[in-house]
Amino acid sequence: MDSAILDHQPRHASTTDGASGYLTIDLGALARNYEKLSAEVAPARAAAVVKADGYGLGADKVAAKLYGHGCRHFFVAQFVEAQRLRPLLARDAQVFVLNGLQPGNEIACAEGNIVPVINSLNQLRQWAVAAERLKRRLPAVLQFDTGMSRLGVPPEERAALAELLKTCGMVEVLFIMSHLASADDADSEQNGDQLAELGNIAEEFSEFDVCFANSGGIFLGDAYHGVLARPGIALYGGAPTGGLPNPMEPVVRLDVAVVQTRTVPAGARVGYSGAHVTGGETRLATIAAGYADGLLRSLSGKGSVFCDGIRLPIVGRVSMDSITIDITALPEGRLSLGSLVEVIGPHQTLEDIAHDAGTISYEILTGLGDRYQRRYR
Ligand SMILES: *Cc1c(COP(=O)(O)O)cnc(C)c1O
Repeated sequence: MDSAILDHQPRHASTTDGASGYLTIDLGALARNYEKLSAEVAPARAAAVVKADGYGLGADKVAAKLYGHGCRHFFVAQFVEAQRLRPLLARDAQVFVLNGLQPGNEIACAEGNIVPVINSLNQLRQWAVAAERLKRRLPAVLQFDTGMSRLGVPPEERAALAELLKTCGMVEVLFIMSHLASADDADSEQNGDQLAELGNIAEEFSEFDVCFANSGGIFLGDAYHGVLARPGIALYGGAPTGGLPNPMEPVVRLDVAVVQTRTVPAGARVGYSGAHVTGGETRLATIAAGYADGLLRSLSGKGSVFCDGIRLPIVGRVSMDSITIDITALPEGRLSLGSLVEVIGPHQTLEDIAHDAGTISYEILTGLGDRYQRRYR
């Protein structure tokens, strides 16, 4: 496993161009993760879920890289994301909108060569109307709800959908799909329940291929793969299965610059509300990222950053634009204005910081914001 790019940080690294922090995105690692997932699902294929700007890492860069590694199916959530991404990709790539059609965007969707995921009978009717108007067949994916109660045609409407489809010859169904609610928990019985329900659907709509697994689903076994898997988080280095070693390669590294250091006596109050009071003489550093940069306020008094592999706890509240850390464990003078500390990297994974923040890797990644300087490798 070659994650040397993300592990490497020159000794005593510091910001040299005024950046408040560096978000390093290893596109090579992204591509290796895609290849690993593709091998895992073969002979099925792997799509790429690039919604929310490629989980915050840049949908344009991510999609272009994965296209170069054979990916031809790209899923976004909102129509506006598809409109941005579609022109950047070659014609033989398909862009799917998971949240489906919205009233009024049917023609724009068709003319934009974007494939909607149809989640209801009414959406199917509207898509058929658009096809008649444009006098050409329009591609679509049909989504079924198998137990998540979020998106897709519910069980009680399946018979009506089958009837409706007979009148929608202008709509070309590329495949059917559903989404797993608990795939990150390999022991959840919801996985088997949803698989069984999808089995019923596949029988009722036997002329169509099936697209099912997200990242977690890929590691639940072949039965979950269908013809096309839809990984998101695993591409970006997040753990597909909770509680198990993460088989994916890290893709992001985050280093944040020190903006001030000080030594305070015992009894000093640190940060908003004086939420932390020092127990003894303490050396502190303030770093240039806060909750507006995606380092959630729930990390207050809980999370940490690293320097030279040494854990530096967050003290007091996380501010909007800064965080104060206890650097007493480091040799004096080791950190000064502009020095970089590791927030995500070899000593603290995405999962670690998500755990400290009481959330999931997805929320950390998609929240990282645009004030860091991005470096694509
Ligand atoms: C977000 C999403 C995915 C990707 O899920 P990961 O857990 O990130 O792999 C796949 N399918 C649907 C419908 C989604 O909404």
